[in-house]
Amino acid sequence: MNEAARRRFDFVGQDKMVDSQYLLPNDIGISLLDCKDAFQLLSKEEKLYAHYISRASWYGGLVVLLQTSPESPAIYVLLQKLFRAQPLPQLQERATAVGMTCEEYQAFLVYAAGVYSNMGNYKSFGDTKFVPNLPQEKLKELVWQSKAFEKNPDEMERLWQVCGDLMFSLEDRQKQLGLGAKGTTAYFSGNCDLKDAELAQKFLDFKGISAYNTRLFKTVGDGGKTIYEVRLASVIKDDAPLKGESGNQCGVYEFEGVTFKVSRGDYSPLMKKVVENLEKAKDHASTPNVEKMLLHYNRSFTTGSIDAHKEGSKHWIRDEGPIVESYIGFIESYRDPYGSRGEFEGFVAVVNKDMSAKFTQLVASAERLLPQLPWPQHFEKDRFLKPDFTSLDVLTFAGSGIPAGINIPNYDDIRQTVGFKNVSLGNVLAVAYHTQKEKLTFLEDNDKDLYIKWKGPSFEVQVGLHELLGHGSGKLFVQDDKGKFNFDTGLVNPETGEEVKTWYKQGETWDSKFSTIASTYEECRAECVGLYLCLSREILKIFSHEGADADDVIYVNWLTMVRAGVLGLEFYTPETQKWRQAHMQARFVILRVLLEAGEGLVTVRQTTGGDGKPDAIITLDREKIATVGKAAIEAFLRKLQVYKSTADVEAGRALYSSYSRVTDAEPERYLTLRHTVLLRKESRKMFVQANTRIEGGDIQFQSYEASAAGLISSFVERFSEDGDELETCLQELSCRDSKHWGI
Ligand code: ZN
Repeated sequence: MNEAARRRFDFVGQDKMVDSQYLLPNDIGISLLDCKDAFQLLSKEEKLYAHYISRASWYGGLVVLLQTSPESPAIYVLLQKLFRAQPLPQLQERATAVGMTCEEYQAFLVYAAGVYSNMGNYKSFGDTKFVPNLPQEKLKELVWQSKAFEKNPDEMERLWQVCGDLMFSLEDRQKQLGLGAKGTTAYFSGNCDLKDAELAQKFLDFKGISAYNTRLFKTVGDGGKTIYEVRLASVIKDDAPLKGESGNQCGVYEFEGVTFKVSRGDYSPLMKKVVENLEKAKDHASTPNVEKMLLHYNRSFTTGSIDAHKEGSKHWIRDEGPIVESYIGFIESYRDPYGSRGEFEGFVAVVNKDMSAKFTQLVASAERLLPQLPWPQHFEKDRFLKPDFTSLDVLTFAGSGIPAGINIPNYDDIRQTVGFKNVSLGNVLAVAYHTQKEKLTFLEDNDKDLYIKWKGPSFEVQVGLHELLGHGSGKLFVQDDKGKFNFDTGLVNPETGEEVKTWYKQGETWDSKFSTIASTYEECRAECVGLYLCLSREILKIFSHEGADADDVIYVNWLTMVRAGVLGLEFYTPETQKWRQAHMQARFVILRVLLEAGEGLVTVRQTTGGDGKPDAIITLDREKIATVGKAAIEAFLRKLQVYKSTADVEAGRALYSSYSRVTDAEPERYLTLRHTVLLRKESRKMFVQANTRIEGGDIQFQSYEASAAGLISSFVERFSEDGDELETCLQELSCRDSKHWGI
């Protein structure tokens, strides 16, 4: 049976069957993006700066509605009006009155939460449409019986006319994002296909206009002549150059027999809100460099100039290790079916000062801790260099979805000349492992309780060790261009017992030598360092874990690694025999090493679950971690380091590939286990984010409960001061577009 046929089918309405991939399950994981502690540790100026950048991000994030599907803005406005007019418990009473079951009402809340967190009715990961899992007539009835309808029946009816059918329909073209007959998109008018996109790209390249902040609209003018409008995102609607403005490309051009009109003012009222808030943030900028960065961003959002955004990005790269980190603009082009238009995204993340203090102490102890690693002293760096790492907690991430880490900017010219930044989003990563007990797969019941209690603290230890003493440790043996060695050439290789025979020659680097396996191999080494050093009581004390608690932290850290190794199979493609994710491959390799250690340290039993479907149970023998487990990781980690130090790519590749291999051989049957992992995979989580508000000169931090209702409340309150104005604005913007889609 193929993947599609294996999927479960659910009923929607009386006679329609909907493939469950187009539904969000009622028990979908909804987590709090916890940033309260980190935010409270900021100074008042830092809080104000973070607040205004957040506001700018949230307003800009609404642009995504207009980039996703023709109906997204109307759905969003309909929901905002419904939820703003009356409290949720009251709305639920009306739902019951119109005959909605509890499940149907919950399905409606989950759908709404999905629209808010994806900023539209298409999933940000996977790009498929999702529809409400309840009968359309019942939802319509709820809208008609709502307080919002009581207040303004005409307006609610109009909104329903625009989106009521499109919310539920699953015609082929609407099932996923795509161009022309292949799917839906709002980056292009509905009459555009691949040929139009190609021609437009040719024109944009010819004129040297970046596509990042544009959309394309095609009309056929008098006499059948095709006119393409390239709309630039900007506050200004006037196409004439401003005083002193250079590089304005607006105008009408003839190109290959058609007309191109470059105009500005797309999303104008939203961009205005963005600019206003960035302007306020500027008053609280920490350095002149940050002020300049904001100035350029504002010029970009005001005039539609991507060059100005590039200038801003240069200042952003120079802002190293800030307390409040952010990035804002038209950034990632994954969701433009043609791949060149950027989706609006804005985020604010803050350094977790608490966690950073522990990391600093870890770094301060590095000289004493490094000799505990299982390789001879000569394989360690002459001097410990603290790797560039700050863990940030996301306060705000506006757009269609939240990644766990980012590597930006995407402008290739800037990456090559000025550089880029790697940002690790700690509280997003942490949540990736958080889950409710019922959904915690592959563990025994008592392990689930321990896991839930200690996952956060043990993750903090593992991340600190992984980043600082993992990526920060170990020496590379190099012979420089003058023939000079940075190591003692008579040195004995502890793996072979012979003299060191290989090293990095002039121009060779770790990445160039180990190429395709370099990143996963290095992640594996860093993960092993974490597992190995977390056994040290001294280190656990730095993180304030002592006695029995320390034992639990160790146990849960190791258990998490073993479970991650099993879950990692999701990221293996049997057809190509390739791994798609460096960290997950690394964890699978570690699982293999620990299974190989034997003596009952780790078992993975494939079973049948209570539902009659395949399942698995993982066990880890707590008593054997410090003996069997430690010895296995010690031997493996030494090999990883020695091969890395000596540039022995042959031995390194042979070792790493053998542990990465996924077959269905007995007793593990990894390919079968992979099917079980896919079968029991949890749907992608949604995040509830906080709001910040200025009240009496102070910044208030407002958190919400981790549920669909909490997520909805966060969005209702986020824009409460804008009331109808913002919604009217969105409706007008989408009306202007809608004639291009015929809705
Ligand atoms: Zn790493």
